[in-house]
Amino acid sequence: MKLIFERGAAGRGCSILPACDVPEVGLRAGKRERELRLPSLSETEINRHYSELEQQVYGVNSGFYPLGSCTMKYNPKINEAAASLPGFAGLHPLQPEHTAQGALELLAGAEKALCEITGMDRMSFQPAAGAHGEFTGLLLIKAYHKKRGEGEKRTKILVPDSAHGTNPASAAMAGFTVVNIPSGPDGCVDLSKLREAAGEDTAGLMLTNPNTVGLFDRNILEITGIVHEAGGLCYYDGANLNAVMGIVRPGDMGFDVVHLNLHKTFSTPHGGGGPGSGPVGCKGFLAPFLPGEMAAEREDGSYGFEIPPETVGAVRSFCGNFLVVVKAYAYILSLGADGIPEAAENAVLNANYMKKKLEKAYRMAYPGTCMHEFVMDLSELKERTGVSALDIAKGLLDGGVHPPTMYFPLIVHEALMFEPTETESRETLDGAAELLLELFRKAQEKPEELHEAPQGAPVKRLDEVQAARKPVLRYSYDS
Ligand SMILES: *Cc1c(COP(=O)(O)O)cnc(C)c1O
Repeated sequence: MKLIFERGAAGRGCSILPACDVPEVGLRAGKRERELRLPSLSETEINRHYSELEQQVYGVNSGFYPLGSCTMKYNPKINEAAASLPGFAGLHPLQPEHTAQGALELLAGAEKALCEITGMDRMSFQPAAGAHGEFTGLLLIKAYHKKRGEGEKRTKILVPDSAHGTNPASAAMAGFTVVNIPSGPDGCVDLSKLREAAGEDTAGLMLTNPNTVGLFDRNILEITGIVHEAGGLCYYDGANLNAVMGIVRPGDMGFDVVHLNLHKTFSTPHGGGGPGSGPVGCKGFLAPFLPGEMAAEREDGSYGFEIPPETVGAVRSFCGNFLVVVKAYAYILSLGADGIPEAAENAVLNANYMKKKLEKAYRMAYPGTCMHEFVMDLSELKERTGVSALDIAKGLLDGGVHPPTMYFPLIVHEALMFEPTETESRETLDGAAELLLELFRKAQEKPEELHEAPQGAPVKRLDEVQAARKPVLRYSYDS
């Protein structure tokens, strides 16, 4: 794609606006050797430029997008319709409460539904993303220990090695020391290592279940029990609740704090499409520390804002990204109490269906039934044929499929992590599996072709090292 900016007559200064008095210093008088060559384009040209860019972008609306851990599900259009209602879209956070009763009621309703789904008592919508929710949840844990006079002593957060990278980062940002807990060969938390690590200095544990290798840790009650016994609290990273929503609840697994990614499980757009929402929920004993403001129903049935009495402070303005909550609530209400577990079941079914088809050729990192995602280990293939996880991912691009998550989780080498989600049809899953099996055959027969993939994408194989070290951050200008 090349856009040639031409300088038309209007490029010499705008004829419809009066000449402006740019201060001398701004003109860099004497220093500029020639006139600035700013682009001048017609509306048609700009329109075509952006349409062309749009056509080059691959999204959930274009095709299969099995990016593991990211839950790239279809975002129903009805969510957008709800969020575009003038009463929601035109809301001002400082308008009088009695003129925003519907919005406040919606916030209270969404909080109630999400508390029901997670087994928590209260939830704050302030955090703007998953990692922001983690940070906020850790602040609650910190406030709890501080109030009990144990803030100085409880400085460590236990994080399994299969955790999402944001977990240790958030714990460090919240001022804790991160203690890595290794997984056993089955991909689950090593209980004896956890017992060794838990003690008087433990502030808490951060865990995702199902974890990032797509396995549900059956020892979860024992895990949370060990941490509680040591005096720590348990944090559930619920960014990706897709396998368990409506089926099991973090609150019943023994967790005290949880965050959700509304921009994953609850079908609001993400991946360059922002904004996000990472609400933080907690059990009643932590609710006084939640960040305000929160919508609450008053005794007379009206709604208003409240700020929890011992709040850790605001982590964002007002109620966070309100319209994201509107979309998530539209999703919850349109699925209903039956539809939510059904979506989870279909997500798990789709992942297992695809896993089973691929097992014929590819090695799975962990055998057996998976949850909403599965991880393939391509290290043997690479050793034998030279074809890496990256090569297979690039090959998928030529087949019109978005690659899965690569080289994550870190505990699996040459990892490809697939999460098909519940919104994909059997035909789509069959097509993607067939493509992957074909790439496997190609890896044995014509490995060199895969090293050269993609050939049909708008850009071919990028030099990723150069792109990271010397990024080109300006548009090209053809004179
Ligand atoms: C996506 C994800 C996060 C981070 O969420 P962001 O909104 O990107 O900050 C954290 N944990 C898990 C398990 C995730 O999948």
